[in-house]
Amino acid sequence: MLVVAPSYEIQDALDHLPLPVALETRGRVCYKSEEKISGDSAIPFVEGIVRRGHGSVLEMAVVTAEIACSPTDAAAFFALQPRFFVIDKREGGLLVTASIRALRELATSAAADAVVATFACAVSAKYPFLFADINLATPSLAPPRLYSVSEIDAWPQALLARHRFLGVKFVVSRAVSHELVRHRVCSFLQESQRYCNYGRAQFDRRVSFIRPVFYQENSEEFAIWQQSMEEAESAYLRLLRNSTPQAARTVLPNSCKTEIVVYCNLAEWRHMFRLRTASAAEPSMREVMLPLQAELRRRYSFL
Ligand SMILES: Cc1cc2nc3c(=O)[nH]c(=O)nc-3n(C[C@H](O)[C@H](O)[C@H](O)COP(=O)(O)OP(=O)(O)OC[C@H]3O[C@@H](n4cnc5c(N)ncnc54)[C@H](O)[C@@H]3O)c2cc1C
Repeated sequence: MLVVAPSYEIQDALDHLPLPVALETRGRVCYKSEEKISGDSAIPFVEGIVRRGHGSVLEMAVVTAEIACSPTDAAAFFALQPRFFVIDKREGGLLVTASIRALRELATSAAADAVVATFACAVSAKYPFLFADINLATPSLAPPRLYSVSEIDAWPQALLARHRFLGVKFVVSRAVSHELVRHRVCSFLQESQRYCNYGRAQFDRRVSFIRPVFYQENSEEFAIWQQSMEEAESAYLRLLRNSTPQAARTVLPNSCKTEIVVYCNLAEWRHMFRLRTASAAEPSMREVMLPLQAELRRRYSFL
């Protein structure tokens, strides 16, 4: 077995790369197939994701547009009650941020809406493979302005907090990841214990566990914990002889290491930090959230 320290990686650089690269890099965390990433793997990967309907991968990148429209068009758009969109009224139109998934789903269910058609067509013009399976309506409004992450980073705090989305990849225990996924406003992608077979050479035929924050390495408690993990690993590997990873994983404990990407806007990061760095929060959660907050505060002081 392998005992690893918890960690995190702010995936800031990804948001400055082409959108399919961000989707592929985050999406491959589920399958732990990052070694397949190459210079031209992103678009086929994303096309496969669209075909298979793995929608949560398509939540892992957003587009922000300023759409000039009349109050009537804006009211019609609001009447759709768009879910998972961030919308601000602007003079002469709307400022809208949506994930690829949210936009694709609205472009399917409300294709004729002027704001939806205009937004979806603008994104489709840049990334046609994202909408190849959807009949988009002809846009009736002027082409919207699409904003880059660098432009959004220069916006005033109120808009920045709502429209700037940021991904963080955590390497934590399954106990911590279970707490993270309670934050319903976020999008998540997590290493799958159904697809990943830790009995394979790719994982050195061993299970990784997160070093518990609670016990000193030379303590009696740590020795008890270590023995318990060894027994769990041994049971898992023996079960794999005649059963699938999804069956064998039933013996894996909370300490099992997992990788999870958390993607949301800065306003939700601020909310998470408030809850997850407080003294009442779980110490293993604070172990990653406190340094993450300190690092992100150097860029976004309001977090
Ligand atoms: C110290 C601590 C102890 C905890 N103990 C327990 C426990 O014993 N048992 C347990 O089950 N959980 C527990 N939790 C988890 C907690 O109840 C929340 O599920 C978790 O912190 C997610 O936070 P949230 O609901 O504020 O925000 P998110 O899910 O991140 O949502 C962000 C905001 O969106 C809004 N929102 C999202 N979804 C809805 C909705 N459906 N309806 C209305 N508003 C919504 C709210 O304004 C919310 O503040 C604990 C959390 C902490 C920090």
